[in-house]
Amino acid sequence: MDSTSKLACDYLCIGAGTATMSFVDSMLTLSTDSTSFVIVNKQPAPGGHWNVAYPFVTLHQPSGAYGVCSEPLGKFKGRREFLSPTDLATGSEVLEYYSRVMAKFVATGRVRFYPSVTYDFDTRSFTDAEGQVKTVCFTTLVTPESYVTVPSMRPPPFPVEEGAATIKPVNALPTEEASRYVVLGCGKTGTDAVLHLLRRGVDQRQISWVVPRDTWYLLREKIWSPASGSILPFKLAFTNALLRSDSILGAFKALERAGYLGRLTLDHEPVQCRGALITTADLHLLRTVQDVVRLGRVTAVRPNRLELEKGTMPLEPGSLLVDCTACGTGGYTANYDVWSPGHIRLSSNLTLFNPSHSSALVAYIETTSTDAAAKNKFIAHSAASPLLVVDGSPNFHGHLSQLVQGVYSELKTMRAIQAHGKKSFNFYFAARTNYVAPCHVPLRKTLWVMFGPARLDKKATRLMRKIERVGFEDMPPVDPRPRKAAASPARMVA
Ligand SMILES: Cc1cc2nc3c(=O)[nH]c(=O)nc-3n(C[C@H](O)[C@H](O)[C@H](O)COP(=O)(O)OP(=O)(O)OC[C@H]3O[C@@H](n4cnc5c(N)ncnc54)[C@H](O)[C@@H]3O)c2cc1C
Repeated sequence: MDSTSKLACDYLCIGAGTATMSFVDSMLTLSTDSTSFVIVNKQPAPGGHWNVAYPFVTLHQPSGAYGVCSEPLGKFKGRREFLSPTDLATGSEVLEYYSRVMAKFVATGRVRFYPSVTYDFDTRSFTDAEGQVKTVCFTTLVTPESYVTVPSMRPPPFPVEEGAATIKPVNALPTEEASRYVVLGCGKTGTDAVLHLLRRGVDQRQISWVVPRDTWYLLREKIWSPASGSILPFKLAFTNALLRSDSILGAFKALERAGYLGRLTLDHEPVQCRGALITTADLHLLRTVQDVVRLGRVTAVRPNRLELEKGTMPLEPGSLLVDCTACGTGGYTANYDVWSPGHIRLSSNLTLFNPSHSSALVAYIETTSTDAAAKNKFIAHSAASPLLVVDGSPNFHGHLSQLVQGVYSELKTMRAIQAHGKKSFNFYFAARTNYVAPCHVPLRKTLWVMFGPARLDKKATRLMRKIERVGFEDMPPVDPRPRKAAASPARMVA
């Protein structure tokens, strides 16, 4: 019996993570009824990295705008899916949500879902649960470019010598007891691990925290004001700070004074921000940890000691090393064309830290034209003009200038969509995945900040020009135009 069969579809979508799910959802609404999709997914359930996240994980941004346009995830206040700083879906709630969404997709008859399979790009095929090889004939391949890595997906990224202290991914933390916990990493995952230990009653003296680089935290209750449920006051403050300051660091310090940002200690000036949101109460709790190790990244674990970039840390017997070293945003890059013939590479950078809205927009743009070059014009980054590249690395690791380039990318896409016409802007603006959509925030509040005395709309344009042409002391301009040669005195006289 032949164990090979063929599948045909318009769009072959790799993975059922947030990026792909949002793309397919919007395509189902925007494309013709005959457009078909195949989704292949390594994990048994949709939801991408949430399948292997640590048990105490939650969203760190409000649930209300996360996921796909057609299905709510957040709580309602009246008829509005309100963006509350305390409404944060747990990992299992996110997974339930995506299972529900996938069931809806499949029920349309336009989507076929193949879980627990790995697509092989070379042979254009995968082997299904029955061992049958399926070759896929498609018009367009859709790939999620972020490929999030979390600690449970791989062994520690440094050598661990035999006889060294036990090292476990953060997922094991709730069931592990130790006399000393050494938390490796200070991103959102490391921060969550320390908070988890403190909240379950572990004495801060039992905790050592390896902080390779200090980071700016976004203070959630100030950014998502419970009163307004709108992020716009923060966007206004952020825009004003960047317009007024010659350096990005200066702007961040101004935002810290205004209560939007926080850091572990005032003695250390962070030069990175990976968008981790915590509350002010969390920050105070984190500050109780006294043993903060600032010796760079871990390079090796030896019996009785930890080797780091800038020194060595002795390890007492019975220490548990908690691996939180993966960078959840490390796969975010902006050095490629989103559209090339027969291929869409989903960018997470159309709206900053919002892969849900980014993918919904890619779907919208996909339906505006068949011409790849025309569609790429909506996107701020390309292979020829990459964004986010710092020190030769294209990956987003939270450098402040990468964050500002992310803001630039968002503004540029928004302007391109605005220029494309009212219908396009209406989609951008009203999509559930947009933080300021009228389904989350009353329209009059948004219009007041955008076009009222604060004039955020005009300021955003000025900020875009500043990022493009002038830059900051700590970031060169992204698109410096050659200056016109000054007219010579002789010609001026003539
Ligand atoms: C702890 C944590 C908390 C976060 N909280 C938020 C938040 O509150 N709000 C927010 O907006 N973002 C948040 N993020 C950011 C996160 O990156 C996005 O939310 C989003 O989940 C990323 O989705 P993705 O589809 O790009 O990638 P992934 O989740 O990595 O999905 C990609 C999928 O593709 C599959 N795949 C890859 N290759 C193949 C192949 N060859 N064949 C078959 N399948 C394949 C993978 O197995 C995976 O299932 C958080 C991230 C982390 C790590």
